[in-house]
Amino acid sequence: MLLTNTQTAAWLDHPHHGATLTLRNDIAIPEPSDGEVLVKLECSGFCHSDVHSIYGETPMETNIAGHEGVGRVVKLGKDVPSDVMGKLVGVKWLYSACGECEICKVRYVHCPHQNNSGRNVPGTFQQYVVSPLKYTTIIPGGLEPEIVAPLLCAGVTVYAGVAQASKFIKQGDSMVILGAGGGLGHLAVQVASVSGYRVIAVDSGDKADVCMTSGAAEFVDFLKQDVEQTVKRLTGGIGAHAVMVTAGSEKAYESVPKLLRNLGVLVCIGIPRLDFHVPISPFEIIVRGLKIVGTSVGTESDIQELLKLTAEGKIKPQIEVYDFNDINDVMGKLAKFQVKGRAVLRLPQ
Ligand SMILES: [Zn+2]
Ligand SMILES: [Zn+2]
Repeated sequence: MLLTNTQTAAWLDHPHHGATLTLRNDIAIPEPSDGEVLVKLECSGFCHSDVHSIYGETPMETNIAGHEGVGRVVKLGKDVPSDVMGKLVGVKWLYSACGECEICKVRYVHCPHQNNSGRNVPGTFQQYVVSPLKYTTIIPGGLEPEIVAPLLCAGVTVYAGVAQASKFIKQGDSMVILGAGGGLGHLAVQVASVSGYRVIAVDSGDKADVCMTSGAAEFVDFLKQDVEQTVKRLTGGIGAHAVMVTAGSEKAYESVPKLLRNLGVLVCIGIPRLDFHVPISPFEIIVRGLKIVGTSVGTESDIQELLKLTAEGKIKPQIEVYDFNDINDVMGKLAKFQVKGRAVLRLPQ
């Protein structure tokens, strides 16, 4: 039984550049429909793509952003098994997929008919959220909610990105990670090195520590070193087997053709300006045999494998935990790339 019908949420009137969120405590607690659960959130990660949505740089049709929510099931809709009650669960960007189209049959996270938390359905910057059980992650015991939150989007996205690269490269091969010290990047370094790749981490010098403790074999300071020359020197003069771009930076993408060896693979993860195009000509792709892949989030089995690695201590998200009341300050820091690792908001309990 809930004692109240209203809750606190970080409300956005309409997306635009420099928008701020209003903390409102008059937002109705939603009711779970058939097959849905009501989750009382304990925390939510603040993903950089939330900033893009709130600032109107990517489409947003709801008033509540957020898509890395962790909390407990407090109410069940019809047809939900009773043993789900009280479980620690994760609510993610992929709120639901159609489950029936040809894309769903191959990899449902790219379903063209999907719904997304914080894009077209209310997200996790609120105390209570409903979620279809089928797309809700059941979190194994022993994991801290704050540690799990960044894995639900950032972590699983880089996990799936490394898996994409793995189709073309083998253990021991080199992988350059651009933006390696960021929220996505440091997790990418961990996943890639645990998967057996030789990681060359590229970021600014103040991020060297987080990159090296995350398992990088080499660190390149893009502010002080010539990245192309250094990567070539570290890869027998011909460039890396794979380059993963985790920063939403156009400069990072522009540097990729010079860092890849022939037959190399570019993994797109970071989101730059939407009208920006990867600067590789079809001619170059043809004669050099390059591959370009991309991924957004990952499947439930990707997440469960990642949570298992985390429970084993092989993945350790670096987090900065903030009070929900500080949400606008956190957004300001994210917009200026001042958060080390991942920002996680604690929701009022
Ligand atoms: Zn995200
Ligand atoms: Zn579908």
